[in-house]
Amino acid sequence: MTENRINRIIVVGAGTMGHGIAQTAAAAGCEVTLCDISEGVVSAGIGKIRASLEKRVAGGKLGAEVAGETLSRIRTGTDPVALLEGVDLVVEAIPERIELKRDLFSRLDAAAADATILATNTSSLPVTEISRATGRADRVAGAHFFNPVPAMPLLELVRADGTSEATIDALRSFGEALGKQVIVVNDTPGFATSRLGVTLGLEAMRMLEQGVASAEDIDRALELGYRHPMGPLKLTDLVGLDVRLNIAEHLHRELGGDQYAPPEILRQYVADGRLGKKVGRGFYEWE
Ligand code: NAD
Repeated sequence: MTENRINRIIVVGAGTMGHGIAQTAAAAGCEVTLCDISEGVVSAGIGKIRASLEKRVAGGKLGAEVAGETLSRIRTGTDPVALLEGVDLVVEAIPERIELKRDLFSRLDAAAADATILATNTSSLPVTEISRATGRADRVAGAHFFNPVPAMPLLELVRADGTSEATIDALRSFGEALGKQVIVVNDTPGFATSRLGVTLGLEAMRMLEQGVASAEDIDRALELGYRHPMGPLKLTDLVGLDVRLNIAEHLHRELGGDQYAPPEILRQYVADGRLGKKVGRGFYEWE
């Protein structure tokens, strides 16, 4: 790795986030290895990347040749630990379970070259706790991308205890090379994005509970009054009510303020299986 220049990366986890991160990095010219637990799962991830690129080609947003070059920069594997030679950065995008992430980071740390940076895409777990599974706290950070990765402009970098400024600088350059705008947040519960987004969502739910206005009008208040692209209740339907309940419980546990206490309506909807768009019903009915 030349200073601050990340060229070769491994993405671990080929699911919703991993395949998008791999696609975006390959489109920016990085050599990417996409890994998951089996060849079948990695192939499914590659299939999603191919479909996404084909859609962009069909829509005239991307040349077929460029799409082909992007795909050709992505290799696949099932054991990232065995593929670390010459790798500048590993981005982990496996499920949101601390013991899984700590185990992976510990194994990566034992095999990676000293200069390799290890980043986690966690949306809520303490990055410092993941970093402590390694002996390279200075080269561990959060790299929180947003879904869908190719379209969302933000990369939220999380500075854990011990993360060096050189690591933050390298990740910032990497994010900018991927076309993202980068913010840097210290390792605190919910970082900046989840803490703000969830707080707004919970307040909107309390207003709905209290009969202040309909879901549509609460959403329109922010969409039209403050130019939010989507109101907080509709957004909660897209994210998943269960996902937001988990984050609210986590913030309430860690930060303690009443504003993070999940409203009764959220608990009730989750208990009733009204989880949002993915099941066709949340604060709204979805086709
Ligand atoms: P996902 O379930 O879609 O994908 C996770 C993938 O990891 C699966 O394909 C699974 O087979 C694989 N996996 C599991 N254990 C593994 C291991 N030990 N080694 C290699 N691969 C393994 O999950 P996702 O939605 O892509 O989320 C991944 C991470 O990104 C989570 O930490 C999540 O909190 C975070 N995140 C998700 C979103 C989102 O909108 N989905 C947004 C930002 C951040």
